Amino acid sequence: MHHKSIRQHADSLRQGEYSSVELTRSFLQRIKQYDGQLNSFITVSEEQALASAKAADERLAAGDASLLTGIPFAHKDIFCTDGVRTSCGSRMLDNFIAPYNAAVVDRLAEAGIVNLGKTNMDEFAMGSSSETSFYGAVRNPWNTDCVPGGSSGGSAAAVAAGLAVAASGTDTGGSIRQPAALCGISGLKPTYGRVSRWGMIAFASSLDQGGPMARSAEDVAILLQAMAGFDARDSTSAQRDVDDYVSPLQDSLQGLKIGLPKEYFSAGLDAQLQASIMQAIDEYKRLGAEIVEISLPNTALAVPTYYVVAPAECSSNLARFDGVRYGHRCEDPADLEDLYKRSRAEGFGDEVKRRIMIGTYALSAGYYDAYYLKAQQIRHLISDDFRKAFEQVDVIMGPTTPTTTFGLGEKTNDPVTMYLSDVYTIAVNLAGLPAMSIPVAPVDGKPVGLQLIGNYFNEARLLNIAHGFQQVTDWHQQMPAQFN
Ligand code: GLN
Repeated sequence: MHHKSIRQHADSLRQGEYSSVELTRSFLQRIKQYDGQLNSFITVSEEQALASAKAADERLAAGDASLLTGIPFAHKDIFCTDGVRTSCGSRMLDNFIAPYNAAVVDRLAEAGIVNLGKTNMDEFAMGSSSETSFYGAVRNPWNTDCVPGGSSGGSAAAVAAGLAVAASGTDTGGSIRQPAALCGISGLKPTYGRVSRWGMIAFASSLDQGGPMARSAEDVAILLQAMAGFDARDSTSAQRDVDDYVSPLQDSLQGLKIGLPKEYFSAGLDAQLQASIMQAIDEYKRLGAEIVEISLPNTALAVPTYYVVAPAECSSNLARFDGVRYGHRCEDPADLEDLYKRSRAEGFGDEVKRRIMIGTYALSAGYYDAYYLKAQQIRHLISDDFRKAFEQVDVIMGPTTPTTTFGLGEKTNDPVTMYLSDVYTIAVNLAGLPAMSIPVAPVDGKPVGLQLIGNYFNEARLLNIAHGFQQVTDWHQQMPAQFN
């Protein structure tokens, strides 16, 4: 049962092959059996899951169900869930139970999805390996000595191992696409503003975007259909109709113009991984696509620009965790200053502290113009590179990551090497564009992700392009033997 797609489960549920309660029990059982090896969940909300499954069965019986009704799902532990702990992977929020649901959680719940629990992640979504969590590192189901990527590594590992049909993630600089790539699943970062950020704990507000992670592009499309849409509670939410993401999946790819940026195929890219990407590009040629070499000249500026913008915004967003309103509070504070200092010193881990310090420095009087303002100017140059490219091509393709998964602990003492895991994904966030990662041929048994970057609000085309590839390949259906 754990191999099936959303549509297959939806059919089986309607035909009465099994109920949502039975399906949910089987996934809860798999989590019990396998998650000790992966650590992909922080919280399993068994009771709530079974109650939603029961309600889903009633909706199915009444003929009032959507494709998502009764489907076992998992939310990244950054989305607030009413009554179930939302930790954001941090000791700071170890005791935090939100009094409301995030918009994404509500929308999926309205569609009838069953939330199995909350997935593990890098603390406050800062990381590329899911090793900075207060709840311990997540492991990659394809090789449990390796990382699943991050920060949505728990969601990626859970889906790849068949512990949930699909999951939510967030992507500030690559956190949906990079773990999707390293775990061999599909993931979409929507256009900035397409999915509401309300109730999604903020890291860097001008970059953060929630999105779906699943095995196939079709499942991602079905999920995005439910997640996307205007929300007056998020001031950056786009006031724009939601496209139909599902019907155009079948459209022909004949005449599709694919841009390959020369900067994405340069030094630093693993040779075998590059070969796998080129093999996927050849598949697209057979489907009728035309290849155009393009240039995104400011690519090299993306990582340094991001590491000014993201820490600056995080230092401001994380100021709310002061030990007073909610979250961790130190024991017996001597005075107010001691309360602030010790609560934050105890509540945050090293990477979060590093970012807060960099951000505070970059925003301080006298440095703002030199760092934050300059970084915002470079963001324009980066967006402009993409704008010019989309005058020539329909989609931009390249690798999602420079290497396949790496060993646990291998990069934890070298933050800059860790930051470079996102060289190909970060520019997309700075520009606010939509992008996907889909699995292509693995290298030495380790998954490889192909990145597809689309034009603003063109998720429908992006999903169609991904689906076309998945109609003629089966990388997205492969499962790691150990969890099969
Ligand atoms: N790896 C990047 C970082 O550490 C991106 C994280 C993300 O997208 N949430 O900031």
